[in-house]
Amino acid sequence: MPKKFLKICLASSELAPLAKTGGLADVCAALSVYLDKKGHDVRVLIPLYSSIDTTALEFAPNRALKNLTIEIGNHNLRYSIESAVLPATSLKIYFLNCPELYDRPGIYTSGPDEHLRFIMLSRAAIEMCQQMGFAPDIFHCHDWHTALVPLYLQNHYAWDRLFEKTKSVLTIHNIAYQGIFDSRILHDMGMRSLPQKLYQEDLALNHVNFLKTGVLYADLLTTVSPTYAREILEPTYGMGLQDLLRQRQQSLVGILNGVDTDEWNPRDDALIPFHYDARAISGKKKNKQALMAELELDSRNDVPLIGIVSRLTAQKGIELIQAVVPRLIQQRRFALAVLGSGEPRYEQFFSTLQHRHRDRVCYYRGFSNKLAHMIEAGSDIFLMPSRFEPCGLNQMYSLRYGTVPVVRRTGGLADSVQLFDPESGKGTGIVFDDFDNNALEWGLNTVLDLYRDKKRWRRLLRNGMAMDYSWNRQGQLYVNLFRQILDEGR
Ligand code: ADP
Repeated sequence: MPKKFLKICLASSELAPLAKTGGLADVCAALSVYLDKKGHDVRVLIPLYSSIDTTALEFAPNRALKNLTIEIGNHNLRYSIESAVLPATSLKIYFLNCPELYDRPGIYTSGPDEHLRFIMLSRAAIEMCQQMGFAPDIFHCHDWHTALVPLYLQNHYAWDRLFEKTKSVLTIHNIAYQGIFDSRILHDMGMRSLPQKLYQEDLALNHVNFLKTGVLYADLLTTVSPTYAREILEPTYGMGLQDLLRQRQQSLVGILNGVDTDEWNPRDDALIPFHYDARAISGKKKNKQALMAELELDSRNDVPLIGIVSRLTAQKGIELIQAVVPRLIQQRRFALAVLGSGEPRYEQFFSTLQHRHRDRVCYYRGFSNKLAHMIEAGSDIFLMPSRFEPCGLNQMYSLRYGTVPVVRRTGGLADSVQLFDPESGKGTGIVFDDFDNNALEWGLNTVLDLYRDKKRWRRLLRNGMAMDYSWNRQGQLYVNLFRQILDEGR
């Protein structure tokens, strides 16, 4: 008989809305909230970064978790663990309070102690369980930041019978970020006397790779879409981990991320001026007008508005936009609302484009959750021509918001958007295959033509709005998997 409720410890470097740079934060929050709602005992640990806005948090006194110390290499770190309920949920979050490591301007740094910040998180998550006498069935780690947990459980903490039955799960949200450090940090990793446990080829190059270590030791590997789970077995997408992943292929599963429908729902989204749904869609037009007015874009003559919300990195296919949009904007009528920051070359490109077409292009450089919601609600089209995309959330938000996604067929984009067929009326967006200028140009021309065909456009929009990518479905897939590996362990 499987156990009804699971005990799960989840350690992550990000959690929405408190500490977020991307989808990792959304997923950790929404999955934890789902598990909590379903009655599982889920204990989430994140660092108490000084950038976290704590005004809405009520920290509960927790004497047993105060004034703790941990020795990491030659560092004797003092810390405590605070807890507070995540606003608007019943999920209790544990915060790793160690100002020496987390009192920095951002979540991530390029400082010399970056490895230490996340070794600390990984070890503190394990030691928090010890302090609380909490024997997790599942230790759920995310990306390179907590990928050392499986190694630690099997070596450094193997003496503790508390973890006798614990299974470790590593979710890869983006294989491009692996946490690669100089092997001088072996002492800080606690691996100076155990180098044989690490990947020898890396050590020969004087490297250690946190994510790869997690891939070696986790009981189960998951990634955030079925297509990405297949893609990362190939050199094009595997970023050097493909051979190791092939060896562990039987333990690798792709689960598409879900949408946090409490946060992303046009029917009651607190961050958009007008609410709507598939049945009463007129609010969408009003959001478009409000957005275009706010961004000082010319909204006359029913011009289609294309939205982009993205980290501006090579992953996101910005180079295709650079190659195609400046010409296309002179040939066709559309407006562009862009939100994002990242590589200076891309920021510069959008700034210049805005400068050249002030009433047709608006670029907001930075991070704004409110504007992200307004762009999803107010745009007609959402553009995501990614080179690779483990899952991607914005295309799924777009479907819910009746905003037609134009995406490249890769990773989670391939799994969540189906090419619209004007004849049968089936499909939810425009999907192109090749990562090249012609393909993007085809995608944009196709969507702009369809926009003029009001009957088909309505159909396309409604098809998207009818899709269910909520955590109710996706969360259950995680629970099933967790139960499966626990059963296999018996
Ligand atoms: P990734 O994790 O690769 O950045 P995802 O599509 O999985 O991409 O998730 C991105 C998340 O971050 C979405 O919730 C998106 O709305 C948000 N986001 C990205 N850039 C910004 C920004 N500049 N301002 C506000 N939200 C942003």
